[in-house]
Amino acid sequence: MTKLKYGLIGHPVKHSLSPAMQNAAFGALGINAEYVLYDIEPENLETFLKNAASSRIAGLNVTIPHKIKAKEYLERRGSLDENARRLGAVNTIKISEDGTLCGYNTDGPGFYRSLIEDLKFEPEGKNVFVLGAGGAARAVVMYLGNGPKNIFISDVDMAKTTDLKAHYKKYFDGNRLAIVDENDFKEKLKASDLLINATPVGMKGSDPSPVDASLLHYGLYVYDLVYNRPSTELVKTATSLKLHASTGAGMLLYQGAIAFEIWTGARAPVAIMKKALREALRNG
Ligand code: NAP
Repeated sequence: MTKLKYGLIGHPVKHSLSPAMQNAAFGALGINAEYVLYDIEPENLETFLKNAASSRIAGLNVTIPHKIKAKEYLERRGSLDENARRLGAVNTIKISEDGTLCGYNTDGPGFYRSLIEDLKFEPEGKNVFVLGAGGAARAVVMYLGNGPKNIFISDVDMAKTTDLKAHYKKYFDGNRLAIVDENDFKEKLKASDLLINATPVGMKGSDPSPVDASLLHYGLYVYDLVYNRPSTELVKTATSLKLHASTGAGMLLYQGAIAFEIWTGARAPVAIMKKALREALRNG
């Protein structure tokens, strides 16, 4: 039987942890497949997707800068699941044997599963504070939907919070989502049950915590989307205050596990993927 091909398309892609995680999963389940990196320039994306099926590619992950363009392509020449359509971005594509392409987004579901499994936090009916309003925040907020009582969002770039609110309102109850500025930052954070860091602050070892320790109240849960380091200043600070806190490694794991399940129809070997991810992070 010919080996099936899977991979990640992005630009650049070379630091990705996905090959380690996905190849470990294929190996564990005895699936004759290989996951590789495809560095695709934006102007070559359409041609790549057009030829993917004839190149015997069975599934793809999609990362920066292609998530929105891939969604637009699939709207015209394939199909989209409801979550990807609502979010307006694709991070997973399944390519069926008949050559049809379907787009999904597993970032929100991956985040949600990590929130439940790793942080043991259920967002329904709670107040959630999201710091940052870029692509990752959008995936999280659009997946949380009408679940939380309130979602507070704050970003140094006010235009991004306004954009996110306008997008959210198209699908969910707009009264639940409030934009926070420096005047009500403290008050809204104090009223929150969960703080999500969706900024890149923490990716560099020298980065400080994006929120001062004095603003982290007892009982607050903290989820830092940053995953490229074993820990971040925010997670360390929260832990030292005896708060429940997690980095984004679990989100990365589960978005990959859910993509694997979409492609193969098999249950993802999560423990094996987690071990591979941990090793790749350590060696990275
Ligand atoms: P992004 O599109 O650049 O959005 C981040 C936003 O945060 C930007 O609008 C940025 O504004 C703003 N920001 C930066 N510093 C801030 C601060 N101190 N306070 C408030 N806002 C601030 O980035 P992204 O793609 O959404 O990614 C955000 C983080 O999520 C990254 O660390 C990324 O690695 C992580 N992520 C994790 C996963 C996972 O699986 N765990 C998946 C996706 C992303 P400026 O642009 O003006 O700086």
